[in-house]
Amino acid sequence: MFRHHARNHPRDAGAIDICIDWPRVGANFPGVQIVRSLTAMQRRARHWQRAGRRIGFVPTMGYLHAGHLSLVREARKHAGRNGIVVLSVYVNPTQFGPKEDFSKYPRDLKHDLKLCRAAGVDVVFTPGDREMYPRWGESLSSPDRKESPGSTESRPAGFSTCVVEEKLSQTMEGASRPTHFRGVTTVVAKLFNLVLPDVAVFGAKDWQQAAIIRRMTADLNFQTRIVVAPTLREPDGLAMSSRNKYLVGDLRRQATVLWCCIQVARAAVKKSRTFSAARLKIALKKLVECEPAARLDYVEFFDPETLVPAAKVTRGTHLALAVFIGKTRLIDNARL
Ligand code: AMP
Repeated sequence: MFRHHARNHPRDAGAIDICIDWPRVGANFPGVQIVRSLTAMQRRARHWQRAGRRIGFVPTMGYLHAGHLSLVREARKHAGRNGIVVLSVYVNPTQFGPKEDFSKYPRDLKHDLKLCRAAGVDVVFTPGDREMYPRWGESLSSPDRKESPGSTESRPAGFSTCVVEEKLSQTMEGASRPTHFRGVTTVVAKLFNLVLPDVAVFGAKDWQQAAIIRRMTADLNFQTRIVVAPTLREPDGLAMSSRNKYLVGDLRRQATVLWCCIQVARAAVKKSRTFSAARLKIALKKLVECEPAARLDYVEFFDPETLVPAAKVTRGTHLALAVFIGKTRLIDNARL
């Protein structure tokens, strides 16, 4: 039944090799195709390419919010009415450290599909871990993961190739989460090879990530244009994030301290034009520590293009910070 519907959808004219592995979910979401298999995704992407249809892509980890949906609108703008918008929902295990919240990361595919349908997404791509990283726990070497001696020699074929950006990924998130960007660049490279996007949209919310993806795309000659869309915020300034779900009770109020830091830094720059980065960092750390459950992980001032840390803060300098609110780690950034 779902196949029948998908074939008759106007955006899907001519596409007959649909592969939907979750028909029971798909049946409730007419208008959105759900693709789970990697080969089916790639086959369909090639089909659209041959038909001259532009592919706009929004990679996400799901638990969608208005920020993600703003990226969908941007992708539609670039793909055009006749184009295809693909949104991936994949909680990528390789970008989480061993002590991070991978297993607890919020997931609600049904709700995501509802939002995708309302937003005009054509295809939701939800690959599974086993297909993305066959035997990855055994084969992916990591400084944090113990390998049994000699195990590499006799190991059957699994997953053992990573994409590593070596310059922009050394600071900030890269310094705090040493294997994070390796996981991000690896999964994004894989997703690009599966979805074959003409345009991929990323959020400015993850500024460093967007810069690294841009660099990877240029360095490895991907034919995908990277578009970075603005950060969507709650009315009190908190950047929208799937992890905001963890902020219960007073933690939600305390989380606005990230936005306060941005405002204070902006005001400082406006008032005295240039400012010592070291002094401003101390002031912002104190501001964060005023909130009982807040702990500053890092605050950095840097050039928005090169990500090189700045000693002097002036108009146009970029600020990024990571703050734990209780156990929840939040990040934010802004141009000053
Ligand atoms: P995530 O699901 O958190 O991995 O995010 C998927 C994409 O959505 C990334 O490119 C993020 O930068 C982007 N994103 C997350 N939060 C926001 C937001 N508040 N506004 C705009 N984009 C966002």
